[in-house]
Amino acid sequence: MAATALGQIWARKLLPVPWFLCGPRRCASSSFKAADLQLEMTQEPHKKPGPGETLMFGKTFTDHMLMVEWTLEKGWGCPHIKPFQNLTLHPASSSLHYSIQLFEGLKAYKGGDQRVRLFRPWLNMDRMLRSTLRLCLPPFDKAELLECIRQLIQVDQDWVPGGAGTSLYVRPVLLGTEPSLGVGSISQALLFVILCPVGSYFPGGSVTPVSLLADPKYIRAWVGGVGDCKLGGNYGPTVFVQQEAQKKGCEQVLWLYGPDHQLTEVGTMNIFVYWTHEDGALELVTPPLDGIILPGVVRQSLLDLAQSWGEFRVVERKITMKELVRALEEGRVREVFGSGTACQVSPVHRILYQGQQLHIPTMENGPELILRFQKELKAIQYGTGAHEWILPV
Ligand SMILES: *Cc1c(COP(=O)(O)O)cnc(C)c1O
Repeated sequence: MAATALGQIWARKLLPVPWFLCGPRRCASSSFKAADLQLEMTQEPHKKPGPGETLMFGKTFTDHMLMVEWTLEKGWGCPHIKPFQNLTLHPASSSLHYSIQLFEGLKAYKGGDQRVRLFRPWLNMDRMLRSTLRLCLPPFDKAELLECIRQLIQVDQDWVPGGAGTSLYVRPVLLGTEPSLGVGSISQALLFVILCPVGSYFPGGSVTPVSLLADPKYIRAWVGGVGDCKLGGNYGPTVFVQQEAQKKGCEQVLWLYGPDHQLTEVGTMNIFVYWTHEDGALELVTPPLDGIILPGVVRQSLLDLAQSWGEFRVVERKITMKELVRALEEGRVREVFGSGTACQVSPVHRILYQGQQLHIPTMENGPELILRFQKELKAIQYGTGAHEWILPV
């Protein structure tokens, strides 16, 4: 009862347009519009996890989801916020056969003032649209999608955990629902967004380093490919390599590329090296966005932060294993780490490469830079003040 009454209040607050004005005809256009959102509140709210409960990543979902359908004939339909539910798909759906599917991942944080904020969501919308165009899926207005996501989070705001390091993970997905086995551009698609409350990646504010398997026989992405897009098809085949890494006593994969064994990414994170370069300059380096690197939001944020400090050189440049091995031998490496929305900044302490265990002295060096990045990011994400990287929900 209470949830229904609340739903009606929300419905009035969230819906400038009465629902009965928003038939499919009215909504069909080059993009769906947040002003056309239709809200159906759940009649069976689920039990929210308690403050002390540990949350496994991506296993707990909130009560509602966003759904928008598209057809070539009618264009985008109205966006709907609905009770979290299963999808009904035709067994020939192109997403199931040919991986015509893409996704995003971003987080909302609850500050000390109990208000919820999204971290640089505009960059995720940009990236999602790029992935969309790459798969010939229907484009949408990024600002409209973001506004729909904002309203979805508002509906489920009580699901955003408040503990240190916790957040609400937002997973937008766009997939082809074409009921045809032909490989071709699609005439039906579905966009949906689901939300997961997630716990602190490093409980208690500690940072736990990871070990990596660097085996050049496995390639994540290649020049001319789609490694720079968050397409589901890029990730399924990595599970096997991840298992190989675990068999060899490593936690994650360091993806190498090319005959010179360039370091490209760590698992599903971008990679950074903080070292003294051969030329004697202290620098933070990460591979450039040359098509095989996923343009991470945290990657960009670390580059922006370090640049703003102006205390050492910040550069996007290829890094090869040969350079890293030499720098390790010469004691020039300070910290190696991955960056991504899931764990923000993740230290690396060991790399298994061509039968050799390379010790990386990240933890011995503080890790000064990693902890500084984490502190600065947290201050922005959980901060109660305004910041250009923050969108209040
Ligand atoms: C998502 C992802 C990242 C990190 O991107 P963020 O926007 O920082 O979360 C890095 N590498 C790969 C391969 C990814 O899929």
